[in-house]
Amino acid sequence: MDITRHPDDLSEATRIVGAGRRSEWTGAVVNPPVWRASTHLYEDTAALFEGPRTNEDGRFFYGRRGAPTQWALSEALTTLEPGAAGTVLYPSGVAAIAGVMLTLLRPGDVVLISDNAYDPSRAMGKGLLTDFGIEPRFFDPLDIAGYEALFCERTRAVLLEAPGSLSMEMCDLAALAAVAREKGAISVLDNTWASPLGFPALERGIDISLMALTKHVGGHSDVMMGSASAGPELYARLRQRAQQLGTVVSPDDAALVLRGLRTLHLRLKRESDSALAIAQWLAGRPEVAQVLCPMLPGAPGHEVWKRDFTGGCGLFSFVFKGGTAVARNRFVDGLSLFGIGYSWGGFESLALPIEPSGYRSRMAWPPGPADEADRHGVRLAIGLEDPRDLIADIEQALVAWQGR
Ligand SMILES: *Cc1c(COP(=O)(O)O)cnc(C)c1O
Repeated sequence: MDITRHPDDLSEATRIVGAGRRSEWTGAVVNPPVWRASTHLYEDTAALFEGPRTNEDGRFFYGRRGAPTQWALSEALTTLEPGAAGTVLYPSGVAAIAGVMLTLLRPGDVVLISDNAYDPSRAMGKGLLTDFGIEPRFFDPLDIAGYEALFCERTRAVLLEAPGSLSMEMCDLAALAAVAREKGAISVLDNTWASPLGFPALERGIDISLMALTKHVGGHSDVMMGSASAGPELYARLRQRAQQLGTVVSPDDAALVLRGLRTLHLRLKRESDSALAIAQWLAGRPEVAQVLCPMLPGAPGHEVWKRDFTGGCGLFSFVFKGGTAVARNRFVDGLSLFGIGYSWGGFESLALPIEPSGYRSRMAWPPGPADEADRHGVRLAIGLEDPRDLIADIEQALVAWQGR
């Protein structure tokens, strides 16, 4: 049996089991061992001289180019992203975004960044990229004409993200990518929320699909990593830049992420189902003005999500009807089954008070038509607990919100 061969007719659930498990990497065991290595040894000088000439994936050379544990993870991620020729691994999600931007952009270039992108992506535009003479321009991804008008001769890349960070707006990714292509710019999607299981980005016209593996793929809140997958030409450029930057991930971390990957589709399904049940329950509560969950029928962006995505995850937000920031914080403090902290995509539920208006220059918060008083938000990352317990916990914390 050769489980590493993946004819396209095998379903995702089957491919995710075998992906990256080449027998020359695993030997007689199921998982590739953790290959801790800086030096790789050569048979003789002839083999040594051959190394730099080939610089191929899956060839021993030197530790900075990884060894079978990292290669297996990279190949597994490539297998799950239809249209990808390869995947570069980065030490964090932010490092993946930086690695991609430093591959595509030169001084004098313009990069368009979605106004509702993950805040460190925005900060990278205003900090690192600006310092390197690159001009970031922020756009509202729901306004395609306005976005199109921002392109100029110098626009080299576009950074997209859906749903929007914290505020969860859903944009038409294929349409935005098509405009970028027509204008000669490379489209990059931060696909951390849906993963290729919920949105096969390259197949839908995106040029580079990146993820914070720290979130769902790792899945257990114990490892940080990022990835970028692309077709042959862009993959070669990303890989070369990563080598120039000295980017490498540890084999121990790669083994953890591979372990998480094997159960990714099960966890995403369970979390999405629970998140939808909780979102539905919240939508019926008098304390709640808006539920920002694209998977919820009637919520902002639901129609786009239903049309373009085949899955979701447990991350969504909601906005209180009136109240104060203090009351909202009391609600978060009053939860007992939700941790308070950054990140998401682990097995455990988290809650975070959010104030996205501080991170926006073009988009309104909250997203829908809203009363001025309805602006205090909470982001929930739903984990693998029983959703009935989570609802009961939210219900008792709503009492704290009311100050009783
Ligand atoms: C967390 C996150 C990142 C950054 O990942 P790190 O591994 O924490 O650096 C990037 N994009 C999105 C959408 C994220 O949620």
